Amino acid sequence: MKYDYSNLIDYLLDWFDLNARILPWRENPIPYYVWISEIMLQQTRVEAVKVYFDRFITTLPDINALANAKEENLLKLWEGLGYYNRVRNLSKAAKIIMTEYDGKMPADYDALQKLPGIGSYTAGAIASIAFSIPEPAVDGNVLRVLKRVAGSFDDITKEKVKRELEQDLREIMPGDRPGDFNQSLMELGALICIPNGKPLCDKCPIMHLCKAFHQEIQMQIPVKPEKKPRKIENRTILLIEKDKKYAIRKRQEKGLLAGLWELPGLSGKLSAIELTEYLQKQGINFNKIVPMGEAKHIFSHIEWHMVGFYVRLPDADLLAETGNYNTLESSLLTSCIFASTDEMEKEYSLPSAFGAYRNYIKE
Ligand code: SF4
Repeated sequence: MKYDYSNLIDYLLDWFDLNARILPWRENPIPYYVWISEIMLQQTRVEAVKVYFDRFITTLPDINALANAKEENLLKLWEGLGYYNRVRNLSKAAKIIMTEYDGKMPADYDALQKLPGIGSYTAGAIASIAFSIPEPAVDGNVLRVLKRVAGSFDDITKEKVKRELEQDLREIMPGDRPGDFNQSLMELGALICIPNGKPLCDKCPIMHLCKAFHQEIQMQIPVKPEKKPRKIENRTILLIEKDKKYAIRKRQEKGLLAGLWELPGLSGKLSAIELTEYLQKQGINFNKIVPMGEAKHIFSHIEWHMVGFYVRLPDADLLAETGNYNTLESSLLTSCIFASTDEMEKEYSLPSAFGAYRNYIKE
């Protein structure tokens, strides 16, 4: 039997009025701020997003500024947030809004969904919070909360299950406070009906209406099929220094971390001896190799298991006496540029996958 979610509305809104966190994008929920915050929040915790959000809107205060921002600057603003396609899509969408919507976000759920990077969840969030349009915003958090409330064992990874829940909510959305209703569900999912560990049912404003609570099956819901294990890739990462500058190179335009800067690396985990042999074969003279230890970075489908080495090339004045550090055409070094710490700080964004080794970079 279909669960009647309309019974939840008053309890959720009253709870939200008392418990809503003060967040920068909530204080002035103009469409641009709601949009940027929702895109940032897709893969990142609220606490981490606050800092990024403030910096982003200070640097790019409106859609026009976003549309005109250079890609390198956008990537720099996004550095550390990961999933860089999100900021590339923000840029594409901003350009479309400038040309097709006179610089204003369309106050229309369907038009919002046609913009790059905006799916039904984000369109619902922008439409309801910024424009008071009664559309639902269903993401993994909302699915978890409402499937528990309904005591439903539906597989929440199925698109059909999400669409049906959106339709059920669309029928009962409170016309006077659609944005607050959506946010109350998101907030309950973040603070009370939490994703990891036991939900805090004793603090839940809809406990008396929750089937999972009454049947003590909270921990069995939501149902998701087992994820395939991530592919493991072994990598050797090199922090190559010359004259207080560090080698970085651009990744290919397709695939993982597409088009982003990286510390040069090699497939497989090399030992110091293997790396020495490799560099010699490449014709690269070096002063020293220092191990930087192992590190791991988890992407959505892949894990990088890395080992890092600091490689010191001879300084320029030394090179004048000894010849070129790169005696052969080395594909490793010819693909790199050398950037100072200042340039790394201001111009080039390095994905957080390299964070463990980037920390070795000295002023
Ligand atoms: S009672 Fe517990 S399981 Fe049910 S919605 Fe509230 S927190 Fe979630």
